[in-house]
Amino acid sequence: MNCRSAEQYLAAYVDGELKGWWRRRAFLKHLEKCAACKRSVAMHRQIKALLKSKVQRLVAPEELVNRIRQRIDESQVVGP
Ligand SMILES: [Zn+2]
Repeated sequence: MNCRSAEQYLAAYVDGELKGWWRRRAFLKHLEKCAACKRSVAMHRQIKALLKSKVQRLVAPEELVNRIRQRIDESQVVGP
């Protein structure tokens, strides 16, 4: 496998969607020899982790709004 075909498989590999053990093995064998592609895999993993944390941060405000809404409802029940 050369860098060109390794690049094609990179995203699928990071997503755990690289089908076929022979393809995975060829890809991993290339990584063993190629520092550039190894770095690319590490970078893709970082980007993926970053996106994941950003998505979680986007979900958080909605949770907060719900909690505030709940507190308002509760205060209305207890209020005069
Ligand atoms: Zn390479």
